Amino acid sequence: MKEATPFAGEPKRTGWPQPMVGYHVDEAGDWVAELACGHCQHIRHQPPWINRPWVTTQQGREAMLGQTLVCRKCELGAPRDWCLPTEDPIIER
Ligand SMILES: [Zn+2]
Repeated sequence: MKEATPFAGEPKRTGWPQPMVGYHVDEAGDWVAELACGHCQHIRHQPPWINRPWVTTQQGREAMLGQTLVCRKCELGAPRDWCLPTEDPIIER
């Protein structure tokens, strides 16, 4: 596993780095990153604690696709919590 370098402004936390593969907006109007592992993570821009000015623009978001976010849910072993529109829903047996 290669070392992941958090990008500028990203708070340090423990977890597994996962590339962002898409975005959506939740009911509250907050941007949510869809990670390759199947988990979602809010990507709020709340300076000075969280500096993600890129999330406020379409161009910025597109430029950040493929960058990694540290996924706490992976560390916790949480079930995946989103479905790509192109994917079939997960059916629990
Ligand atoms: Zn994850």
